Amino acid sequence: MNDSTNNILGIEDKYSNIGTTDPEDKSTTNTASNVNSYTCNDCKCVFSSNQGETRCIMCNGTNLTNNEVDFSTSKFIPFYRTIDNAIDDYKYKTRNVMIPMVFKNKKVINSIKKVYLPAYLVNANVKGQVRFFGADKISRTDTRKYELTYDSNFDFNNVLVNGYSKLSDEVFNSICTYQYDKEVPYTDDLLNNTFAISYDLVPLEVSNKINNRVMRHCLSVIRGNIQHTLKKLHKNDMDVQIKDNRKIYVPVYILNVEYNNKNHIYIMNGQTGDSYIETDLSIVSIIVFSLILFIIVFGIALAFAYFL
Ligand SMILES: [Zn+2]
Repeated sequence: MNDSTNNILGIEDKYSNIGTTDPEDKSTTNTASNVNSYTCNDCKCVFSSNQGETRCIMCNGTNLTNNEVDFSTSKFIPFYRTIDNAIDDYKYKTRNVMIPMVFKNKKVINSIKKVYLPAYLVNANVKGQVRFFGADKISRTDTRKYELTYDSNFDFNNVLVNGYSKLSDEVFNSICTYQYDKEVPYTDDLLNNTFAISYDLVPLEVSNKINNRVMRHCLSVIRGNIQHTLKKLHKNDMDVQIKDNRKIYVPVYILNVEYNNKNHIYIMNGQTGDSYIETDLSIVSIIVFSLILFIIVFGIALAFAYFL
């Protein structure tokens, strides 16, 4: 059987509702800025702040070289959440007794940093044909199969794309629910007790990242609209056309916790408070928990044996 759908109008595009930014150019020129910029020679992170820094904000390394970054034409989404909001959220997310103590250490918690991350704000069009295989189980032995063809023409506005190579896209995408109408032009005050990490992708990486992000979002919208139980992408002939792409710094609170030779990240959206955390369970607590469970089960078994 062949089920063909030619237009998927009416599919909600969550990005188009966020609103477009003010087209008026509010950029100012800042001369005699007191911002210092550094390159970390260990992790290659380039960051700026208006204080003298001796350690890298990402890897804590001390091998820093002075650098120059020009923010004069940059746009920023300012912070709406305080560091206390971030600490409270972090404490709540690490309250589980099985999470190792290093995550709850006061010194570790106090090293949460207020950071502007580099990002790209993209408007794009996705056009072309995509085919899916769909299937439904009619009975235990009978499955009905479909071939679904969609001719798509989507406009996506304000898709935010991670501009920092050391942060995984998965982590970035999980917290990137920003309201872009709140953006402001750069002033030195924005970097008070706050860092700005620089863009570090080459143009080809940027366009690949944008294409992947937009295409992935588009496919998930189409997939979400398919009513069959099983759905599998068969052939994708859609093209992404980037209509507009501009840089914007977005606010986050960030913490890196080292446990078991692995870096665990906590990140909170500094505007909306959405957050993401990677934690681990403590090996000691797992052993203690298993022992307690064993004693309880053993005790019940003994009691049964004794009373029966
Ligand atoms: Zn570093």
